[in-house]
Amino acid sequence: MQIAVVGAGILGRMLAWQLSQRGHQISIFDRDPIANGSAAAYTAAGMLTPYSEVATAELAIHAMGMASLPLWSALADELSVVGSGRCHAHCDSFCAQSHQPDCDLCLRQLGSLIVAHPGDRADHRHFNQQVLNKLHPTAEQFQQLNAAQLAELEPELADRFDEATYLPEESWVDNEQVMACLADALLANPEVSWFPETPVQQLGPHRLRAAEKEHHFDWVIDCRGLGAKTDWPQLRGVRGELLWLRAPEVKLNRLVRLMHPRYRIYVVPRPDDIYIIGATQIESDSMGPITVRSSLELLSAAYSLHPGFGEAEILSTRVNCRPALPDNLPAIRWEPGLIRVNGLFRHGFLLAPVLAREVVRWLEAGERYQSPFPELIQPLAVPA
Ligand SMILES: Cc1cc2nc3c(=O)[nH]c(=O)nc-3n(C[C@H](O)[C@H](O)[C@H](O)COP(=O)(O)OP(=O)(O)OC[C@H]3O[C@@H](n4cnc5c(N)ncnc54)[C@H](O)[C@@H]3O)c2cc1C
Repeated sequence: MQIAVVGAGILGRMLAWQLSQRGHQISIFDRDPIANGSAAAYTAAGMLTPYSEVATAELAIHAMGMASLPLWSALADELSVVGSGRCHAHCDSFCAQSHQPDCDLCLRQLGSLIVAHPGDRADHRHFNQQVLNKLHPTAEQFQQLNAAQLAELEPELADRFDEATYLPEESWVDNEQVMACLADALLANPEVSWFPETPVQQLGPHRLRAAEKEHHFDWVIDCRGLGAKTDWPQLRGVRGELLWLRAPEVKLNRLVRLMHPRYRIYVVPRPDDIYIIGATQIESDSMGPITVRSSLELLSAAYSLHPGFGEAEILSTRVNCRPALPDNLPAIRWEPGLIRVNGLFRHGFLLAPVLAREVVRWLEAGERYQSPFPELIQPLAVPA
């Protein structure tokens, strides 16, 4: 089939990749260049954390996230066959510590740790209760560590924390690597045409308008994130701010979350002593620079986690808005010739592989396709 994918953020690229692997002819349209742009995907921390997220999200996020994890491993294998070699350019030793030394996506499957300062133990206990009550994980999936066990996993946390929750199945990717590697793989396929810096002015069933030209397809798939707001008015932006630090005095291998009554943070390790500290979650669609208050909260929480962050360099601050629907769940809505996928909120990387897979299955099987996530795929009753 001839399919247009409008929007080349994480969802658009993942979907274009899966569709192209199934032999479809794909045209990708994006208002930005291929290598960078305004997509929320360029700001994301790349965490794939289906257990931690469920403390504040619906069970469906966990179910879809768990279905995505093996798809991320499969993608890492598929893309290493295409072989962009990007990984080896800058993060060989970093990736060698993970289970996939040749992974171009820097997929790190080392699990995450949840910690809290003594005064904030109630928040940590509440987090644990949420995960235990909602998911009933096995003792393998959800581990409560004492001081000695924590010291074994992350020695530098042992001075300040004497207990932690360890979620070994959680992982993360390098968001920029993912975006770049998917682009490389798509551009290497002659069945894929990419129209960068081409804003789509209008789209509808079987057709779209871009650069004053009308284009026709078997299907148009709208993956514009917040760019789709005029056609999907319930969409809203949820602002997120994060900081990139270079901290040679910090040696953390795993993703760490610090529980706190007001500002919870996560710390995501990257190659070259870089750590991403995130993220705020503010009901606003402002894309303005990070505020003093947010910087202070993120930085002081990071410093309280590890004093080595005191000497870190602030490399950059990043701000973007997560595309969210009123229930904070993703949605796939269709009418003949048009599919809209949106509302990935704070789970775009976690969910993109499974959402793309659901769209592909639905497209190939048609209306008789029974999704394992029944609420996800619905007809587009009233075109908004
Ligand atoms: C601070 C922050 C941290 C985050 N951390 C994580 C995380 O750790 N894990 C996780 O799973 N998720 C995370 N997210 C969420 C994730 O980034 C989003 O859910 C995801 O990027 C949404 O994907 P998308 O493809 O729908 O939209 P986007 O990634 O925003 O892509 C939309 C694309 O559509 C294009 N577009 C828009 N309008 C038009 C038009 N008219 N014509 C052509 N192209 C158009 C844009 O240029 C863009 O390329 C985070 C988000 C933020 C802001």
